[in-house]
Amino acid sequence: MPSADAAPPAPRSMIQASCLSGSDLRVGGGTITLSYDAAAFALTRARICAWTGRAALAVSTYYGRFPVSRVRIVLKPQDGEGVRGGTTWGDADDGQPLIQIRLGRMAQAAQLDDDWTLTHEMVHLSVPSVPEQSHWLEEGIATYVEPVARVQTGELPAARIWADMLHGMRKGLPADGDQGLDHTPTWGRTYWGGALFCLMADVAIRERSGNRKGLQDALRAVLAAGDSIRTDLSVDRLFAIGDQGTGVPVLQVLYREMGDAPMPAGDDLENLWRRLGVYPDGDGVRFDETAPLAAVRRAITAGRGGGR
Ligand SMILES: [Zn+2]
Repeated sequence: MPSADAAPPAPRSMIQASCLSGSDLRVGGGTITLSYDAAAFALTRARICAWTGRAALAVSTYYGRFPVSRVRIVLKPQDGEGVRGGTTWGDADDGQPLIQIRLGRMAQAAQLDDDWTLTHEMVHLSVPSVPEQSHWLEEGIATYVEPVARVQTGELPAARIWADMLHGMRKGLPADGDQGLDHTPTWGRTYWGGALFCLMADVAIRERSGNRKGLQDALRAVLAAGDSIRTDLSVDRLFAIGDQGTGVPVLQVLYREMGDAPMPAGDDLENLWRRLGVYPDGDGVRFDETAPLAAVRRAITAGRGGGR
């Protein structure tokens, strides 16, 4: 279980009850105001509360607290079904963070149960605004942390996210002619290249720290320093804070390697899966618990200090 630096998030039932009565949700020290036109959606308030509470709990569990003290979530009706996208701002018209979710008028309960979008957008609240050329970092952290956080609250099985990573991370590898992450703003390098940076950083921090610290500790240190989506930081400063939080200079070194140069290579990624003990098996994966970094793999999804 992750150890919380702040008070642990309120139990799911309490979060639910306040939301159902129409009040704000209070999760992990944050206050979430839900704003939408109930007549626009087929979904019940109970379903929307459960979905919002679950995402907020996952993010609060990963970070030990909700990333910002206050956020407004606006559900914007769209034609059709499902969760159709989201956008997060650190500083909306009212000066507060805002998440806008584009939600189908005919969205079904099962589609909310399966949704990753709202958790992804809430992770954005934790990431300081960095210069545009490093946008990959904002999307990479959101892409990498969202499923890990959902495993830590039991929403997803670990095997499912390792299967998704095994399938997805290769989309983040540099293509012919690509440069470093700061100079290749394609979709694959931005989302999956950024996520691959996070995975490599997580593994390296755990290797260097005897599996006592991980990327989770580095990202918590950023919040503890008073930073979030509401602050502007250079990547160097952000990574210096993160490295201070883990005691090992992994983020700054990896940024020097991957920011300007096209790496890693496909062979490096294959080697990483072998070291973690993750092998494709039909649609899923199978784990090799005798692999050199099997304990690192387990610790990533167990939370801080878990799986040693
Ligand atoms: Zn995003």
